[in-house]
Formats: sequence, C-alpha cells, structure tokens
Amino acid sequence: MARIAILLSERCHPKECQWECQAYCPPVRMGQECIVEGPLGKPVISESLCIGCGICVHKCPFDAIKILNTPEADPSEIVHRYGYNGFRLYRLPLPPTTGITGLLGPNGTGKSSALRLLAGTEVPNLGEYDRPATWERVLARFRGTALFGHLERLSRGELRTALKPQYVDRLAQEPATVLGYVGDGAAAQAAVARVGLESRKDRPLSELSGGELQLVALARLLATDADLYFVDEPSSYLDIVHRLKVARLLRELGETKSVLVVEHDLALLDYLADTAHLIYGVPAAFGVVTHPLAMRAAINTYLTGYLKDENVRFREEPVAFVAHPPRRGGRPDALVRFPALTKQYPEFLLATEAGELARGETVGIVGPNATGKTTFVRMLAGAEAATSGAPPAGVSVSYKPQYLKATSASSLRDRAAALAEEPTFDARRFERELVPGLHLDEVLDVALPDLSGGELQRAAVALALARPATLYLLDEPSAYLDADERMAMARLLRRQVERQACSALVADHDVYFLDLACDALMVFRHPDGDPGRGAGDGPFAMREGMNRLLAGVDVTFRRDAETRRPRINREGSALDREQRAKGEFYYDVPA
Ligand code: ADP
Ligand code: ADP
Repeated sequence: MARIAILLSERCHPKECQWECQAYCPPVRMGQECIVEGPLGKPVISESLCIGCGICVHKCPFDAIKILNTPEADPSEIVHRYGYNGFRLYRLPLPPTTGITGLLGPNGTGKSSALRLLAGTEVPNLGEYDRPATWERVLARFRGTALFGHLERLSRGELRTALKPQYVDRLAQEPATVLGYVGDGAAAQAAVARVGLESRKDRPLSELSGGELQLVALARLLATDADLYFVDEPSSYLDIVHRLKVARLLRELGETKSVLVVEHDLALLDYLADTAHLIYGVPAAFGVVTHPLAMRAAINTYLTGYLKDENVRFREEPVAFVAHPPRRGGRPDALVRFPALTKQYPEFLLATEAGELARGETVGIVGPNATGKTTFVRMLAGAEAATSGAPPAGVSVSYKPQYLKATSASSLRDRAAALAEEPTFDARRFERELVPGLHLDEVLDVALPDLSGGELQRAAVALALARPATLYLLDEPSAYLDADERMAMARLLRRQVERQACSALVADHDVYFLDLACDALMVFRHPDGDPGRGAGDGPFAMREGMNRLLAGVDVTFRRDAETRRPRINREGSALDREQRAKGEFYYDVPA
C-alpha cells in the first residue's frame, strides 16, 4: 500500500518540541531512517519506510504531520507537481464526449489546476517539476488510456476550449460593455438575450452587480464556438432562480458539446451534471481525481465520505440530512418578536411582515436577488434605519455582513485577542469550538488581507459567532466555501443556536446549506413581479417556506432515499408531475 507523508511545514517548530515524531517512530526504534532531519532542520519522513502506524501524527504537539493511506495514489499517477514540497495532482478528469461532467472536492485540492491542464494552459509535468514538461512525455504516459485522444488533440492545437473563470468579480475592471465583452455578431446577441441581459447590453461592466457579471461571463461562454467548455463555479453571486436558469442553459449546451463543471452547490451540481469525478486529498498538499461516477452515486459518496472502489475515507463523519417533521405541539417559545418593517429607497420599497423567532431556532432567508433580504437583515442589525416600524429593542445581535473586506493587516489570532478584551466576545468559545469547527487553525497567523475568499468568510463567521448574542444575523455565509465547509458550517451554526437557546437568521442561496442549518424559512419576493418592491413573509416551517419559494421558481425537489438529501426532479418526470399536481414542491418523505 502506498503512503503519503505530509509535513505541514509552517506548523512544524522543531526547536520547540522534543522531536516526538522521531523518538516514538517504531521503524526508527528498529534502527531504520524513517524520520530524519532534513536540510531545513525539519523532519523528513520516508514514505517507503513508514508503516502507517500514525504514532507520529498523534505525538506531534503541533499537528504538523499527516500520514495518509491512499492505495491508488502511487507516484506513477502524478500528473502535475508544483515543486519539491509543492502540491501534487494525481490523475485527471475525463471530459465527456458530450454531456456534463462535474468536479467535486474541497478547495485547494487541484480542481482549477486540473482544468488548466486539460485546457492546455499548462503542460502536465508528470511530477518532474525540475525539468521542462514536454508533450512527448505526456503522450507516452497516457498512450492507451481514455484521455489519450484528448491530450493528443490538445498537443496539436486542434482542440478549441472555452473557460468561464471562477472570479467573475474581476470582470468589473474590464473597460467594456456587456455586449462588447461577450463578442460580435449574432451568437453574442443571442447569448446576451438567453442569460436575460438584453436590457443591459450596452452597460459598462463596471456598473454591474456580481450576479450580472456571472451572467455576462456565462453569455461569453455560450457565444464561443468550442469543442470543450470549462465552467468554474457558475453559481457564485446568483440567487436560486438564476442558478436553475443557468443550469438549464448549460444542460442545453451539453446536449451537443462536452462540458466540465466545478461547482460547490450540491443541489445544483446534482441537477446539472450527468457524471462527476470526486477529488479528495489534503488541501495545498495533494489531490486525487477519482474515476467518474454517476451523479447520484457521486454525491452520495461525497456525503458519506467513503470511497468504496478505492477504500478511502476522506471525511471522518458522514453528512446527515433529516426530513423536517413539523415540531410537535406547535411552535416553541418565541425569543425575538419583530414588528412589520418598511424601508423606502428612491427606487425600491421593502415591506416585511411581523414575525417571531423561537428559542434555539435558525431561520433561513431566501428569495431572488434585489428583493430586500440584505436590507431586512441590516435593519435588524441596526446598520440601516427602518422607514416605519422599529427593530426589537433590547435584543443583542451579532452580524456578519454580506460583503467582507479585511481592513487591517492583523491576523485572525490578533483580531480575536484584541476582541477578547471586550465583554462581548467569548474567547474560549472562539478557540475551543469555532476555530476547530471551521478549520481555521491553519490560517490563524495569516494576515487577514492574505486570506482566500473562503478563509475570510470562515474567519468572519467565527468572529460573529464568538460574540454572545440573542440573535445572530448572517448574510450569505456560504459564499466562497466549498461543499464540505458549507456543511460543516451549517452543522456548527445549528448546534450553537440550539445549545445556547438563541436564534439566528441566515440569508443564503444554497439549498443544502439551508436544509442542514435551518428549521424555518422567511421568503422574500417581488409582489406582483414588480422589481421596485420587495416583500418578506414568514417565518414558515421548512416545507411551506420551500413550497412558497419553489412555486415561483418552477422546480420540485424530492428526498434521496439513501441520504435524505433534497434532489431536484427532472422536469416532466413522473415525480415532478405528481408533486406539482399536489402542490408539494419540496417533498419531505424519502422518495
Ligand atoms: P482548487 O481549484 O481545488 O481550489 P487549485 O488547483 O487552485 O485548487 O490549487 C491546488 C493547490 O495547488 C493550491 O493549494 C496551491 O497551493 C497549489 N497551486 C496552484 N497553482 C499553483 C502554481 N501555479 N504554483 C504553485 N502552486 C500552485
Ligand atoms: P437582496 O439582499 O434581496 O439582494 P437588497 O436588500 O440588497 O436585496 O436590495 C434590495 C433593493 O434595494 C435593490 O433594488 C437595491 O438596489 C436597493 N437598495 C439597497 N440598498 C440601497 C441604498 N443604500 N440606496 C438605494 N437603494 C438601495
């Protein structure tokens, strides 16, 4: 069995420990050089001598060692490696002949790298990072495999590829109009119309919202005539309505073309793709691409965290969904009562109903973009004055805004230490529960501006949840997170709110995140379809809330028999028709 030994170099402090890794290593005690001091004064662990006992992993006071049993990840399968201590990618996904294949795995395990290698932006070095990569070696290595044809055409420059990049917010800096950026001619005009941006086609990109930029990037992809389409995170910034619309457009593309999609919204990926490769591994260390699985099996495998074919467990606990039976005996105690509120902006009028939040309850806020969700949360947070009605007095709130910006160069550890001086911060909870629960240990000492989007999001949520409060207000906490991080955050939030008998309101668009975190939903909409007005209703029980939301979106969900996760029904399928007839858009009983 092949093993991978990883030393997290920045965590290893060889001058501050007793070299427990070496002292307790059984092969070392038998006289073998399994762990030796390397040129940088840090341990080097021999993967061939390691017996995989895991003693060093437990003995290391800094958690700096990972020993991984990955039977399939043998060095001959390395496709690309960034330097001696760099990230290694094992195997590549196989683009479908036609149709859509998904790529699902944690951030930092090589998804974007895999897309770049398949697009020919970078030539695979096959692990030989110390000499220039050549197509001859790549073709010799892949001869006789399913990928050979793809790589051969790529090496000859015969494969036309199109990429929808991950960071669409960067498009705002392009000095172009919508149509100018999408392209010339009839195909571009048609693509702009298909994504619904006809009325904004002459606008400069700098004036568009994040969601509109995402649609522009997709329009450009659709307007490009290529053989292979790469779509990196199409759901970012989009509401549920637009996520489904984009999914339908990509499915149409996949009817005749080959499409590879990276996506963390599991409900969307499930609906969008026919098959998927999982990627497992250790972020920033290595990633292994699995064989393609049928979509249902791919997501169920992902949720259980165990890959049967390869005998690899890539997560300790499976993710469990529960159907949401109505609470017995009616709603529990109300903790926070809020009155009807309105907010008048020059071009927008929001009116929300009076409602209450129960003790221990997490309530989702859902609805299309620009229906007033953020405005409502900001009014409750005291960040925006209401035009009429007043948010409840005397309720302590802790608020995580939608848009995050690191304003100081301090690290998360420094930030928490500064906040710990104040009575409104629970340092113990931060350290003991939130840092480990949100996997922030590795970035505690990184300057906040250097954090990735997902790291900054987790840091902001941890700081917000570390403030003792009656009401937590989280605006889009799932943005930039991978699927694992979303599910871990959902569980942590739910547990904290229940245990502390407080309440939380969470505006988000990810159905799995909402389903895992929430007991009830508030639903926002444009009354009579008028974009100048917004209305917020509820809270409703999950099922009724989802029914109200989904009736407007025109899709139905069932529950997967095995995992109980929600799944979007294929349009016009027997279940879809049956549920529509009953008005059951979000079915709570395993199908
Ligand atoms: P994902 O798309 O799954 O988030 P990436 O492919 O972007 O993962 O990155 C995987 C890892 O590879 C990252 O942790 C990063 O450290 C490393 N990496 C990516 N690109 C480079 C590069 N050009 N040079 C060195 N390391 C890189
Ligand atoms: P959502 O969170 O549902 O996307 P928002 O609350 O952000 O909705 O915005 C609702 C509407 O209010 C939008 O049309 C937006 O343009 C408008 N709006 C939000 N903030 C302001 C403001 N400070 N001044 C004027 N209009 C605003």
